[in-house]
Amino acid sequence: METTAELLASVKPGFTTISPGRDVVASFDREGRLFSYVAEGRTYRRTLASEVEVRRRGDEAPPGRRPPRLRRRLSRAEAHRLFARALSTAAAVRPQADGELLRRLDEEILPWTPEALLDEARRFARVYKPISILPPDQYLSVVLQATEGCTWNKCTFCTFYQDRPFHVKSEDEFQRHIEDVLAFFGRGLLMRKSVFLGDGNALALSQRRLLPLMEMTRAAFPDMPIYSFIDVYTGERKSEADWRALAELGLHRIYIGMETGFDPLLALLNKPGSREELAEFVARLKAAGLQVGLIVMIGVGGVEYRGAHAQATLATLERLPLGQGDLVYLSPFIERPGSEYARLRRAQGLTPMSEDEIEAELSRWARRLRAAGVKAARYDIREFLY
Ligand code: SF4
Repeated sequence: METTAELLASVKPGFTTISPGRDVVASFDREGRLFSYVAEGRTYRRTLASEVEVRRRGDEAPPGRRPPRLRRRLSRAEAHRLFARALSTAAAVRPQADGELLRRLDEEILPWTPEALLDEARRFARVYKPISILPPDQYLSVVLQATEGCTWNKCTFCTFYQDRPFHVKSEDEFQRHIEDVLAFFGRGLLMRKSVFLGDGNALALSQRRLLPLMEMTRAAFPDMPIYSFIDVYTGERKSEADWRALAELGLHRIYIGMETGFDPLLALLNKPGSREELAEFVARLKAAGLQVGLIVMIGVGGVEYRGAHAQATLATLERLPLGQGDLVYLSPFIERPGSEYARLRRAQGLTPMSEDEIEAELSRWARRLRAAGVKAARYDIREFLY
């Protein structure tokens, strides 16, 4: 941060941040669009679709625990007021600004109005179907929707893509999508370091259909590594040579929805595959030079499955050939009301684990994996924003 008498400001290649007082910080992308605003202990994050989520720590906590993080989406009227407030903050610091900060205020940030920021929702919807979920280290990627939805869409717990049929973009359609994405981000691309190929399992496409889309991605973003989701049952159809060819086109890490290493629980989730197939698939990806991110759900199956799920999943993870750049995401399980999983769980008399029980289990898994030299991190899908 550069400092004047009262003003702290940072003019980074990807961001402009201003902090006119101790507890107010406003950040903008290089198109001058508000990115985040911090005030009175609350953090406001604007998504690219111009929704705003406010987060703060709660006031009370159980003994020995931190207060929970509270989250709420602002109404459109509240978002309008927040945008006006952030722009007033920027206008108020202008008299003290000079050099690059003054130029960015005048040319990038202050030309925006709250109405124009709200209207970004319409621009976003012209370019994208909703971005339902990303891995935590990809929240600042550039998403390209080579496909929309999921080829399977029948896992009992998953509601991410139920709003859309599976669709593969043609090469022409994908090229237009890339151009629309580039225009939408503009200089906002300067804060993005990777490309995420969506939606649920774009890599499930045959090589014949996938390679041209990967080549187009590479041509548009030659310096950015490419990331994507895949599931075992679709990924295992490709050979090591196929994966190597994708790695040569910039594919860097693949995130696999493993969920559990306990096959009877996987069956309850209606996810095809097995722990043995997963182990073979991961070995193939590693041999092809790819990094992997494995996602497992803590608390799924409830109290009755807790022991078997932990034992089988941890044993599977510990024997995978994981190394530098590979990681395991431990995701606290969130049961969606109305999902097929919720219906089955009730029908089978399974007892849901409480949030505290899930957190304790997650800490235990993390300790065990780290002791085995596996990089493990928390993945709370409620934190996702794009
Ligand atoms: S394969 Fe993945 S995206 Fe598709 S339904 Fe299952 S969990 Fe959801």
